[in-house]
Amino acid sequence: MAPESGLLIDLKAALPNSQFHLPGSREYERLNNSYRSATNASFRPPYIFSPTTKEEISTFVRITSDYVLNGAVTFAVVGNGQQVFPGCNNTDDVSNCEIDALTVNLSALKGVEIQDGLVRIAAGERWSRVYEVLEKEGLGVAGPNGSDAGVAGQALHGGIPFFYSRHGFICDNVVNYEVVLASGEIINASASSHADLWRALRGGGNNFGIVTRFDMQTYQQGEVFGGVFSYPLAELPGQIQALVDDLTAPNPSKDTHITLEINHHGQEDIQCRNHVYINDAVDRPPWMLEPFLRAFARLPQFAVRRTTFAEAARTRNPLPVGPSAWAPRKKSMNTTLKANFETLRDATDIFQEVLAEVCRNPVNYNYNRGTTFSLSLVPLTRAMLKASASQGGNSLGLSPDAGPLVSVCLLAHWPYPSQDAPMNATVERILVRIRARALESGHAVGFVHGVAAHETQRPVAPESEEALREVSGKYDPDGVFQYGVPGVFKLWDDE
Ligand SMILES: Cc1cc2nc3c(=O)[nH]c(=O)nc-3n(C[C@H](O)[C@H](O)[C@H](O)COP(=O)(O)OP(=O)(O)OC[C@H]3O[C@@H](n4cnc5c(N)ncnc54)[C@H](O)[C@@H]3O)c2cc1C
Repeated sequence: MAPESGLLIDLKAALPNSQFHLPGSREYERLNNSYRSATNASFRPPYIFSPTTKEEISTFVRITSDYVLNGAVTFAVVGNGQQVFPGCNNTDDVSNCEIDALTVNLSALKGVEIQDGLVRIAAGERWSRVYEVLEKEGLGVAGPNGSDAGVAGQALHGGIPFFYSRHGFICDNVVNYEVVLASGEIINASASSHADLWRALRGGGNNFGIVTRFDMQTYQQGEVFGGVFSYPLAELPGQIQALVDDLTAPNPSKDTHITLEINHHGQEDIQCRNHVYINDAVDRPPWMLEPFLRAFARLPQFAVRRTTFAEAARTRNPLPVGPSAWAPRKKSMNTTLKANFETLRDATDIFQEVLAEVCRNPVNYNYNRGTTFSLSLVPLTRAMLKASASQGGNSLGLSPDAGPLVSVCLLAHWPYPSQDAPMNATVERILVRIRARALESGHAVGFVHGVAAHETQRPVAPESEEALREVSGKYDPDGVFQYGVPGVFKLWDDE
């Protein structure tokens, strides 16, 4: 067994009752295998720290900061490991290197409590647990429509909630972040206390500290109507038109959730899926959902129905948590377009053209049948962007008047490491071509959503960047979270 590092010896002395897991132990392997993408699970940190209290995290950060500033240590922070961006949430053992590395896994930091109209969510929780607790009280929260996702990553990078037009981004509904700063101090960041940090954390990722608790607004929540259903590719243009009509209508409903998705499992197997919901306990689709349902007279009863909020989110969960056996390696990338029919149709055409080329030359691309590409069209409605602003603003850099927009998200899954290079190149090719076409037509928008960013993308708006750097300099003056902690983006990268 390798000798313990100086940091690990210091940490164990200061935190004798805490959990440090070494490679080969059952808990280490379980935690390191819980990443959504095998790319991140293939990193092997020399040890994993698994705190259960904010005090442990405070002691950990206070001790580790000195090592980081001496250039001796880097540490990653992981909530639930669902983000597929390589290396944003795990570190690797580089045994021939002088730098020690470890990963702080927050998944044992549990707790969901309702208090004073808020739900206080510990940083290791998943949405499924939050929904379960709230549902018993007839309450809801601005969480996503898939409940196996981690709360932390979305509440720090934006996040699309179920009923986005009412609530803005998920991060807009965090009224207080409890955060451990680089000094080890534990503070609360809200509209009335450290408001600059509060706004920065709404989109600023892990650049300012380790967030230990997210306090979010709750609201009354009854049953919803809707579901997820598949339809043939030939119907897709009509569905894109319906989406654009809905987004550009003078007064669209604020209570719907509509996402279009096209899934490519091979040239003979391309399926489209709609995610369509309304926040209303009805038994039949109301008129505003009809354009998304009317072509599908023979919809299976179970696909679209009246159900609970928690059950709807559970049904949407695509796969078991952790790398899936059939296609464990993943890559995401996204861009934002104006809600224009031709531009969105072009985006789906480019997606199909590039993948048709890949399928025509499977050997060149190392393509096989286990490979899946999904393109989602996720609305960023006018009401959503206004709701963001009215809840105190965030650091995502989208103006309240920018809508209606559509976030175009690409997610690829494949089975083998030998496919990494060609599949990654394919992801980039699709997105670069979509963006180039949108630039030509004047429908490209600079926003990159952090929850699904690619390592070549910088999901921070130039307009927000200076303010975020200032906040980072104020709360972490030596740059512990800049130099010592990998993430989806860093603010001092270019200094
Ligand atoms: C199949 C699939 C479906 C998805 N569906 C949706 C969806 O419907 N809506 C949506 O908005 N997103 C969706 N996502 C995106 C996903 O939810 C985000 O990537 C999110 O960031 C994951 O959250 P997490 O807590 O697991 O993050 P992690 O992977 O644990 O961490 C992500 C980043 O946040 C940092 N971080 C995590 N916790 C903390 C903390 N407590 N303090 C400081 N920094 C922290 C990490 O260091 C890391 O850089 C989906 C992703 C996949 C793969």
